[in-house]
Amino acid sequence: MTIQREQLEADVLIVGAGPAGLACALHLANLIKTHNASGAKPELSAENIYVLEKGREIGAHQLSGAIMNPKALAELVPDFEKSAPLDTPVTDSAALFFTEKKSFRFPITPPPFQNKGNYVVSLSKIVKWLGEKVEATGVNVFKEFGGAQLIYERDGIGGVITEDKGVDKNGKPKDNYQPGYELRAKVTVLAEGTRGSLTKELVAKKKLDNINPQSYGIGIKELWDVQPGRIQPGYVAHTLGWPVPSSMYGGGWIYGLSNNRVSIGLVIALEYADPRFDPQATFQQWKTNPFVAKLLDGGKLVRYGAKSLPYGGWYAMPRNYFDGGLIIGDSASFLDSQKLKGIHLAIKSGMLAAETTFEALKAGDTSAKTLSAFQTRIEQSYIKKELWTVRNFHQGFSHGQFSGFINTAFQQITGGRGLVDPMRAHAGHEAYKKIDGQPATPRFAGDGKLTFDRLTDVYHSGTRHEEDQPCHLHVADLNVCATKCVEEYGNPCQYFCPAAVYEMAKDGAGQKLKVNFANCVHCKTCDIADPYQIITWVVPEGGGGPNYEGM
Ligand code: SF4
Repeated sequence: MTIQREQLEADVLIVGAGPAGLACALHLANLIKTHNASGAKPELSAENIYVLEKGREIGAHQLSGAIMNPKALAELVPDFEKSAPLDTPVTDSAALFFTEKKSFRFPITPPPFQNKGNYVVSLSKIVKWLGEKVEATGVNVFKEFGGAQLIYERDGIGGVITEDKGVDKNGKPKDNYQPGYELRAKVTVLAEGTRGSLTKELVAKKKLDNINPQSYGIGIKELWDVQPGRIQPGYVAHTLGWPVPSSMYGGGWIYGLSNNRVSIGLVIALEYADPRFDPQATFQQWKTNPFVAKLLDGGKLVRYGAKSLPYGGWYAMPRNYFDGGLIIGDSASFLDSQKLKGIHLAIKSGMLAAETTFEALKAGDTSAKTLSAFQTRIEQSYIKKELWTVRNFHQGFSHGQFSGFINTAFQQITGGRGLVDPMRAHAGHEAYKKIDGQPATPRFAGDGKLTFDRLTDVYHSGTRHEEDQPCHLHVADLNVCATKCVEEYGNPCQYFCPAAVYEMAKDGAGQKLKVNFANCVHCKTCDIADPYQIITWVVPEGGGGPNYEGM
């Protein structure tokens, strides 16, 4: 059946209203305003910029630790300090080493962990504030709309089709059925965040990959309200050591916000050998270190969330320009994997994309050749400067922490070159070792006060999806899950998913994969870490997903 879709035409379509997408929209609207005021031709309009946001509100899907380096925001909104919800400036930066029962502060905080001049923020609040600024310029922001399909045109793209709404779980239209819009644009900017589903498809189809495959981590976060006096606002600590095994890459964070609120979390690289490793349970275990347990004692869990993050850096960056489009932010790998900071790079990449798009619109030429000016702008900006010095950082840890620290030391004294340059990487899912018949250990249950099981945590993510819709987690071959994967890897999806979406349920004498998609917090870990690469995350009906208000 051919679906009749309403067509809308824009100059620019931005897929994703995170820091990168909104910075792109705001900067472009500002450039257009100045251009029109000067009387220059052709006249452009901010109303011809469309932004898609799949969450129920702007900011609902935004999750980060989050410490923000304000330099890009200061360029985008010079008087940002007057109105941005900055929460609190960093007042103390500590690096801690954890054992199970003890913690030690490093006498000198290593430079990557120093955060003087940065702010502890709620990314969700910052993005909401940016969204209001964008809407005030006349840009059209479509909330509860996800980019579901790319429209291929020339040797690139000409827009996207949004998801069909009102489709039941069997794919049949319901009474409220509404076909997705066909949104065509001269320039489509993919700002979907980490492991964007459209970006993934485009990069594979047009072979835009760099020399390394993207490496990812998973970050698990909780927000707590703690007893007064337990943490100073602006106190920032990063932890190394227990309970992350030395063969793996990862660490924790503790950030003090105002009003006795604290952001805690653990980041783990998704490239470990044990297919039954459980990042959510490891994070819960981390909280039982006396330093964290004492901080949280008598406090209350407020929110939970999880997201993946692109660690791969410069050598994993896909080509970010093509006919009719650009890729920005986390989707384009603009994240400093050593400092674990990406908000300022996302904003800056959005601004540079806006400048490139503005020039292309004026010239009436949105070919890859013209849009390649984006990459030149990136190379001339501090994005390249920052990412180039850590271009081999994450790969240096592929054989564990010990060799990672040695590699880092050499990279520090050689401006990022290190012992081998470029250092190659493998896709993280290739690191799994087979279980060889080893039985599974009981799942982590939590004590309900300090530590929680995944369902309790998911409840605190505010996640909801319309239940009567097609499952947005496409498993290409369920037989693989029930046979090969049971034997070879013990179904890692049951362990790496931080939201208890995947469950092997009894099915006669065997087992069958049950997908509780309504729990999904959109972290994309399954799309990344599945050993057979048969899980594809696609956008669910708009408005579904977590509600990371205040995160
Ligand atoms: Fe993350 Fe996949 Fe689980 Fe959703 S189903 S929460 S994307 S791992």
